[in-house]
Amino acid sequence: MRSLVTTSPESTAALGARVGARLFEGAVVLLAGDLGAGKTCFTQGLARALGVEGAVQSPTFVLVQEYPDARVPLRHADLYRLEREVEVLALGLEERVGYDGAWVIEWADRFPDLWPADRLELRLTHHGEARRIEAVATGPRHAALLAAFDEPGEPAAERT
Ligand code: ADP
Ligand code: MG
Repeated sequence: MRSLVTTSPESTAALGARVGARLFEGAVVLLAGDLGAGKTCFTQGLARALGVEGAVQSPTFVLVQEYPDARVPLRHADLYRLEREVEVLALGLEERVGYDGAWVIEWADRFPDLWPADRLELRLTHHGEARRIEAVATGPRHAALLAAFDEPGEPAAERT
């Protein structure tokens, strides 16, 4: 488990970029946290590190936004508006997540049973004006992504 506090939107995005720089085909990054916690901000940095140009917005209405030309084809999902697991299954996510490109999924914790066993779980919480970002890797492939939290410089991790 890693934990750090980011004190600006740029810092949240910078952490996303560090993860993005390490992202691989089949990666699954699950984002949990309240509205405004910084999930999309983090994803914007991650996408930029994968070479995505232009705006990355919360796919709240389109549900899945795809960036096929990224260094690793990136899929960004936002499940906020979905109420039931069958709606997620109807999108075919169960068959694609973990296989087809790299996935970043906002509100993934609302459907805890759907995702591959080896994944990176991030939880973002308001911490005064700042944000705390906690990371857990549940398997060996995604454990490599935790190195993003150990890089020197801002934002700096607190070991837990
Ligand atoms: P979510 O996708 O979780 O709903 P967003 O990323 O859309 O959240 O919005 C988060 C908001 O918080 C943005 O306005 C962003 O600029 C801001 N933000 C992100 N990280 C920080 C931080 N560390 N400190 C202060 N504001 C932040
Ligand atoms: Mg969002």
